[in-house]
This record gives sequence, C-alpha cells and structure tokens, in this order.
Amino acid sequence: MRDEILDLKDCGKIAVMGGTFDPIHYGHLVAAETVRHRLGIEKVLFIPTGRPPHKNNRSVEHDEHRYLMTVLATANNPYFNVSRIEIDRPGLTYTIDTIQSLKKICSDETEIFFITGADAINEILTWKKVGELLKICNFVAVTRPGYDKISLMNNMKNVQKNYEMNLTFIEVPALAISSTDIRNRVIAEIPIKYLLPDEVEQYIMKFELYKTPFENKPFFTFINQKLHIVLTPKRFAHTQGVAGEAVNLAKVWGISVEKAYIAGLLHDCAKDFNEEETLRLCSEYDVELDEIIKRQIYLAHSFLGAALAEKEYLVTDSEILNAIKYHTTGRAQMSFLEKIIYIADMIEPNRPFYSGIDDIRKEAYKNIDKAVYIALKQTIDFNTEKNRTIHPLSILALNYYENHFKEELL
Ligand code: ATP
Ligand code: MG
Repeated sequence: MRDEILDLKDCGKIAVMGGTFDPIHYGHLVAAETVRHRLGIEKVLFIPTGRPPHKNNRSVEHDEHRYLMTVLATANNPYFNVSRIEIDRPGLTYTIDTIQSLKKICSDETEIFFITGADAINEILTWKKVGELLKICNFVAVTRPGYDKISLMNNMKNVQKNYEMNLTFIEVPALAISSTDIRNRVIAEIPIKYLLPDEVEQYIMKFELYKTPFENKPFFTFINQKLHIVLTPKRFAHTQGVAGEAVNLAKVWGISVEKAYIAGLLHDCAKDFNEEETLRLCSEYDVELDEIIKRQIYLAHSFLGAALAEKEYLVTDSEILNAIKYHTTGRAQMSFLEKIIYIADMIEPNRPFYSGIDDIRKEAYKNIDKAVYIALKQTIDFNTEKNRTIHPLSILALNYYENHFKEELL
C-alpha cells in the first residue's frame, strides 16, 4: 500500500504528530488541529510509533489496531495524514530515523515541526542523536492540563544550554484525556464516549481491545468498578500498571496469574483515605496498628488494604491477602506472590523514573530475590534519609535476604 507520507512531498511546512495512539483520542486530535491552524501547517502527519525504547515495559496493543484506529480518527480531516513508516521499520523506534526519512522525501526547504506533549519534551535529552534532531526539525510543545510550566521552562534551559533549539509552546484546550485513562475505563467497563471519536470507540468494542484477559470476568469487573470510584485517577492507573506487571512476573515465575492480577489491583485499595478515615476503618475492621505505624500512618494502608480486600472485595485467598498486607514493608521469607507484588509496585511502567529503578527492573525477571534485596535496600535508605523510622518488618526482611542469599548476591 502506498504510504501517505509521500503526499507531503511538495509541502513547505509540515508537522509530525508521533505517539503510541493506544488508542488515539480527542487530546491528540485537538492538539494537532490547533498547531496546524496556529502555525499555518499544510499537513499534519500522524505516525503511530513502532517499538519506543521508553515504553517497552507495557505490551502495547497490536500495531495494526493502533494504525487503523489512527486512520479512522483522522479520516475526516483533509489536512491529516497517517504513516506506517515507524510500525513497518524493524527494531526500536527512534524519532531521528523518522525525520531523516521524511527529509529524504521532502525538499530541502520543507520546514518540519515535531509536535509533542509537554511531558515528553522534558525527556528530549535522552533521545537518540538529539543534537542532530534539533538541527533538522522544529519542536512544538503542546501543554497539557496540570503541567508545571515553570519546571518545563527550567528543563528547557538545560537543553538550550547545550543545543540550539527552535521551540514553540502552544496551549491546547484543557483536555485531561489520556490513552491510559481510556484503557483503564474499558477494563472497568466505564464509558469512554466523548473522549475519542465514535469510530474509534466502535473499533475498540468490536475487537474487544483493552479487556481483562481472564476468566471470571464479573469478579474482575466488580473489583475494577469499585476501585475506580474510591481511588484517584492517578492511583487507579498505577494500580492497573501494578496488576499488569504482576501478571507478567507471575508468568515468568510460574505462579497463578489470576492471583497476581487480583493482588496487584487491590494492593493500594486503602491508600486514598485520609488519616481520620484510615483510623476509623482500622478500628471497624480490627486492624491492629503498632506504635511505628500509628506515628507514620501512611504505613497503615497495606494492613488496612488486606482487611478491606477480604471484607469489602470478597477475597478469601490468604496468599493474596498477605501479598497486599506486606507490599509496603516486605517481610522475611516472602511467598512468591508477595515478592511479585512488592516488586511490581516499584517497577510498573507508570512509575515516574527514580534512580535505581533500572537495577530492580533488570533483576525482577532474572533473580527475583536479588530484585527484592535491592528494592528493600533502596527503600530503607530512602526513608532513613527522610528521617522516618524503618519498620522492623523491613529490617528483618533485609537481614533475611542479605544472609540467605549472601553468596548469590555477591
Ligand atoms: P499514554 O497514556 O499511553 O501515555 P497518551 O494519551 O499520553 O498515552 P501518547 O500516544 O503517548 O498518548 O501521546 C502522543 C503525543 O500526544 C505525546 O506527545 C503526548 O504528550 C501528546 N498528548 C497526549 N494526550 C494529550 C492531550 N490530552 N492533549 C495534548 N497532547 C496530548
Ligand atoms: Mg503519554
């Protein structure tokens, strides 16, 4: 099939809108249309990404689905084209390769504008051949709601210190829409109407994209719907990330994926209560809190979470309940499921980057005990630095993994 990228051959000013588009939504479309109009762009080329190096932890929906949804969403705008160039190119996807291909197709005079969300522009220094990229194309940062503009500007100073960069900021109407939220809504069977074009919604339903991949669907839907009400959107997304990561780990380590999924979903089910509610619920459900937890009440959520999972979410399996109960402190001799939830919580793909995360990610699928050891050590160091009292369960856990795997860990 002829790629629509070729239609840009004679254009003087074009824009590229790259993204996972898993799925494409009105946030993307409004951003592209706003930039087109403001900068007098002749064509906006939507390029669903192939294998982005930064999103390799989450299994994205099939390339063809993402491509076709992008085609459906853009079909009624004569200024929008879609290209398969990235999904058809083998290996990891780097923007520099795409822009260079585009340069070859267009004339030397063609101006290229790369549209990206403010969140992504922060990471630009980590992109492959950034210096070259900044020379051959202009950047447009569209700001998303809730984004801290001051820190964005400061970050850009870092980039501009080292490179000459042509950067324009454009505000797009405050759309708090994200693909992550849409996928989570589908899982929880919550409407996605008006967040994305009807055609894309129908496509998602027809091919049953983003559904819970297990039997016993009503039970998972029940849990997800309840969580969607009690958790903040951010926590809900984190929860889905942990559940997904736990499933991947469970497959690798040969334990029940259903149990991993439920424990992952529910691990933070008590985290969005304030102190007063937490204490009230602990007393209602007879959750005993020691002195350290009473002083550092955020630690209570795992213990209360296990109680809520049993009483309100009707989980009877003690392995799952223990994985929830010990997911914050850890403990000596954790079961496989406990280790998996403990680790999944720290490495799930929505977690903002922190130094050390790569070490845990690397070991999680190779030597889970080593991953637990590294994670415990990092957590204890981090909390000590913050002058918090370390819970004895964590100290016992650290000693246990240190001693037990001494040789292996060296
Ligand atoms: P995910 O939730 O999976 O990260 P997303 O909604 O951020 O998905 P991407 O495919 O990652 O979508 O985004 C493609 C580009 O569109 C990125 O540059 C991103 O920053 C930008 N973008 C995403 N959502 C919006 C929005 N609501 N408004 C403006 N720009 C957006
Ligand atoms: Mg994104």
